[in-house]
Amino acid sequence: MRKKVIAGNWKMNNDLSESQNLITKLTSGLSNLKLNCDVIICPPYTSLSEANSLIKNTIVKLGAQNVYHEDNGAFTGEVSPQMLKSVGCEYVIIGHSERRTIFKESNETINKKVKKALEHSLKVIFCIGETLEEREKNITNDVVKKQVTEGLEGIDEKEMSNIIVAYEPVWAIGTGKVATPQQAQDVHKFIRQLIENKYSSSVADDLTIQYGGSVKPDNAEELLSQPDIDGALVGGACLKAESFIGIIKAA
Ligand code: PEP
Repeated sequence: MRKKVIAGNWKMNNDLSESQNLITKLTSGLSNLKLNCDVIICPPYTSLSEANSLIKNTIVKLGAQNVYHEDNGAFTGEVSPQMLKSVGCEYVIIGHSERRTIFKESNETINKKVKKALEHSLKVIFCIGETLEEREKNITNDVVKKQVTEGLEGIDEKEMSNIIVAYEPVWAIGTGKVATPQQAQDVHKFIRQLIENKYSSSVADDLTIQYGGSVKPDNAEELLSQPDIDGALVGGACLKAESFIGIIKAA
């Protein structure tokens, strides 16, 4: 059975001392709970090293929100997989819709990042999802299929064990509009089928597919009880320890 994975994407929030406070509250709030899921936090780059120290000997794992697809060199402002590993990251989010829209990352760029991250043994949270316009045009499945096909091009069956897919309908991110459990389940099932067609039923069965988009403590349980929803990628609600813990408890 797939273990659920709850990840918090802090985005561009929390300076060093705010990060320390949030992690301290989170780890102490989780310390006496018996959890049924893995927990990952993805703070900004500037807090990763400190976060790594603060989560030592806890169940919380560390991820970054982005990575560059080169090992080193003249790429001002970018950060390599090795750098992320050196500050304790086990995971990296790649292809978040904000990277796709604001920073114009293409499926091709995202694919390069996925390959480079896997080459350096980082586990990838690979984000996909349609815009409102695409959903209204009834092309959600086509969009998701293209993102999966191009974003995971050249990734082999073995490497898939280090990939988590996060389905995040763009219209539900940071908007308070959550996909209904059935809408999310339908797309998750479609993604699992795509993976089965591309690889095998065992790769598809083992794949963790998170839902992301306005997940909160009060809607998490219903979403997470869907058969193909294996966790959540959480934005806004992970910035308060109580609400992130509420979602973790629902898993
Ligand atoms: C996200 O940014 O990945 C996200 C899901 O944000 P929110 O939970 O705020 O919608």
